[in-house]
Amino acid sequence: MDDWQRLLQGSLRKPEEIARRFGLDVEEVRRIARVFKIQITPYYAGLIKERGDAMWRQLVPDPAELKENTGETDPLQEDRDSPVPSIVHRYPDRCLFLVSHSCASYCRFCTRKRKVGDASKIHPRYIEDGLAYIRNHSEIRDVVISGGDPLMLSDRKLEAIIKGVRDIPHVEIIRVGTRVPCVLPQRVTEKLVAMLKKYHPLYVNVHFNHPDEITPESSRALNLLADAGIPLGNQTVLLKGVNDDPLVMRRLMQKLLSVRVRPYYLYQADYVSGTEHLRTTVEKGLEIMEALRGWTSGLAVPYYCIDAPGGGGKIPVLPKYLQSITDEQVVLRNYAGELFVYPQVKPKPKRKPRPAIAPCYSFDGALPT
Ligand SMILES: *Cc1c(COP(=O)(O)O)cnc(C)c1O
Ligand code: SF4
Repeated sequence: MDDWQRLLQGSLRKPEEIARRFGLDVEEVRRIARVFKIQITPYYAGLIKERGDAMWRQLVPDPAELKENTGETDPLQEDRDSPVPSIVHRYPDRCLFLVSHSCASYCRFCTRKRKVGDASKIHPRYIEDGLAYIRNHSEIRDVVISGGDPLMLSDRKLEAIIKGVRDIPHVEIIRVGTRVPCVLPQRVTEKLVAMLKKYHPLYVNVHFNHPDEITPESSRALNLLADAGIPLGNQTVLLKGVNDDPLVMRRLMQKLLSVRVRPYYLYQADYVSGTEHLRTTVEKGLEIMEALRGWTSGLAVPYYCIDAPGGGGKIPVLPKYLQSITDEQVVLRNYAGELFVYPQVKPKPKRKPRPAIAPCYSFDGALPT
């Protein structure tokens, strides 16, 4: 057994253990565990400094989870875009390949609660069917290997999957999405990165939500990956009582850059059942984006997205920098709130002036004459 597997085995997961360690009611913890698995690595438990802090709120179960039955089990309707159980194919040229149902720790706000934590949902042909689907769909040039957490697989199993994807000629890039560098950084070993770097171009997207998660241990893991030439991106979920503060978020983004991770997405928390106590308003997200753009490095500014309920996919949301747009001019607001005018190029004389907003032709296929 590898060191990281031993560390993982020492995770907190028994309701009695959790209740004792965090001063919770054991019956309540049992009830929560029946809805969504509880697991906290000893490393991450060590980052929790006090009751209700940012790390606590992410992984320690909260009795509120049981009371909040608004929200959905599959808010993004991924199952609708799932041709085989391991694939979500929603966008034209890329797909998700869900290769593992385990995670090193279970985030209480997880969008895939319905799938993760339950290994029984993986049947023998699960991976093979996914590979076959990608092979048969030559439009897929980008495969996002996700889960669960792909780094919960052994190096050997993970390599078999990555190699299987890499051997498909039309797949140009591979991405691996993982929270392991944050919750179990010891899993990122020299051996793992030596394997990953054989399958370039390969990207890794990590998941950090608070600046205090960037520790010497996680920095070491990220450094190993970056030294293997793997471009690193980060996805953050906006969470109440965790990072719903412009200063906390700015510090997180800056610290990520200092360990060579480029902030990629900031997600509005999904409308998932049992997570109401962790959601914020969209105005909060906009306020945070305003506090990033212009005030710190452009590299530190992620895209703020709402993954639309009902399967609409990721929709970017921006503060209102574009104040008005006409044929003559565009009025813009800069990060400090000052207004500026950009003159439009003069329309060619003979052409009819263009409407300010392009009409949508697709509803009846008729083109304007
Ligand atoms: C997020 C996501 C992707 C990847 O989207 P990018 O914007 O390219 O990072 C692909 N498929 C699904 C279903 C997704 O949710
Ligand atoms: S690591 Fe990702 S998939 Fe796993 S519980 Fe957390 S959010 Fe869900």
